[in-house]
Amino acid sequence: MKRDYYEMLGIAKSASKDEIKSAYRKLALKYHPDKNPGNKEAEEKFKEINEAYEILSDDSKKQQYDTFGHDAAGGNSFNGENPFGGGSYSYSTGDFSNMGDIFGDIFGDIFGGSSSNRKKGRSSQRRGEDLRYDIEVSYLDAMKGAEISIDIPKKETCSKCHGTGSKDNSAPKQCPQCKGAGQVRYSQGFFSFSQECPHCKGKGTIISNPCPDCRGEGIVRTRKTIKVRVPQGVQEGTSLKVTGSGNAGVNGAPPGDLYVVIHMKQTPGFKRNGDDLYTEVSISFPKAAVGSEIDVPVLEGHVKVKVPQGTQSGKTLRIREQGFPMLGRRTRGDLYVKINVTVPTSLTDHQKRALFEYAKTIGEIPQDAKYQSDNFFKKIFR
Ligand SMILES: [Zn+2]
Ligand SMILES: [Zn+2]
Repeated sequence: MKRDYYEMLGIAKSASKDEIKSAYRKLALKYHPDKNPGNKEAEEKFKEINEAYEILSDDSKKQQYDTFGHDAAGGNSFNGENPFGGGSYSYSTGDFSNMGDIFGDIFGDIFGGSSSNRKKGRSSQRRGEDLRYDIEVSYLDAMKGAEISIDIPKKETCSKCHGTGSKDNSAPKQCPQCKGAGQVRYSQGFFSFSQECPHCKGKGTIISNPCPDCRGEGIVRTRKTIKVRVPQGVQEGTSLKVTGSGNAGVNGAPPGDLYVVIHMKQTPGFKRNGDDLYTEVSISFPKAAVGSEIDVPVLEGHVKVKVPQGTQSGKTLRIREQGFPMLGRRTRGDLYVKINVTVPTSLTDHQKRALFEYAKTIGEIPQDAKYQSDNFFKKIFR
């Protein structure tokens, strides 16, 4: 005896169209074969709820069902490949397209992913996934370039079976269930589903004596150390592509690529802006006043910088092409050096006298004044 359609969808006879649709949607999601590969019970349930929805979502069919029960469809009409063929219903093309819309409406968004799986084709070759790995690079490495080793988790071709998945290297056999298609189709009325063949997991072939290392997959999860060449001039967010270092491909398909994304690690005392490097130095008042050549510490070593006569504290000097190399170009950014002129924190008596004399020359102290003491100095400058 067939179960009641309302019961199948878990709804009351008085359920509205929306309630029917929502109940169906919920159950269809739960029992969809893509979500329950190889589960016969779920498959049966899925057929049932589809059947129930086909009838209850159609006003005229629902009415006939409500009046005559399952007999309305001729008793056995709903359990075969062509459920409506022998019954009292006949479908116009219009009805078909209408149901197609409902199908798309309900599944389009949710099973979009599996419909692309369907397009995989019979060989089931699949390029390996691309991988992303983020690293921190010091200013110096960005300045000079570096080779950095990274240890990443990834899928590799099984080295024991060389990716064949076979323990004894025997050739894979065609899968008897899908006849090599990798997909099985089954129809429920005019709904037709393709799903990955549960027997061969979509490969289309089966391996009679699977490799123990990879359990016949041909691919193992592992960690691999990869050397990455960091070119001069990389910046925050630069992405380096390491071709072929992504996950291994399936069934002999090419591997994906690895993208190494650079993040800059700041060096204390320095700032980077684009290709330019910024730093600060302190110099004495006489050097700033008279002008001099000073050694400015940079990321590695020193750079000689000419400080012009009369340089004020806070002035920034630009030294051309002493910044970061420009990625992929022959030129470099600039170095900016901010000059801080220091004031002595303590002076000897001798130095005070000297400053006293200097103050006289710029008219701050009368020419005939004589240096007596600290306090005398302060009184004059009051
Ligand atoms: Zn293997
Ligand atoms: Zn198969």
